[in-house]
Amino acid sequence: MKIKKEDKVRIISGAYKGVEGKVLKVFPNDNKVIVEKVNFIKKHQRPTQQNPSGGVIEMESPINVSNVLLICSKCGEPTKAKIKILKDKSRTRICSKCGDMI
Ligand SMILES: [Zn+2]
Repeated sequence: MKIKKEDKVRIISGAYKGVEGKVLKVFPNDNKVIVEKVNFIKKHQRPTQQNPSGGVIEMESPINVSNVLLICSKCGEPTKAKIKILKDKSRTRICSKCGDMI
């Protein structure tokens, strides 16, 4: 996955198109991410001891990683990051717009 936790991303399709937010969680096996304040769903909660009346809570649900673009921390543009393998075999992400490491 090219997207990591704490990355800033822009949503490029669906109801939240154009929204930017921080990645809260990644699910590499599913190719999904949770983005802050994006794709809220209402969840009905059963009554618990802390919340005896139960109720409805809103929380972010995962979206497909193909619906987001990484925002470059250097140039601030949404970019399709390229992976580059460094001499020490570590992988780094390169912005396709400005060529800087993200
Ligand atoms: Zn850039």
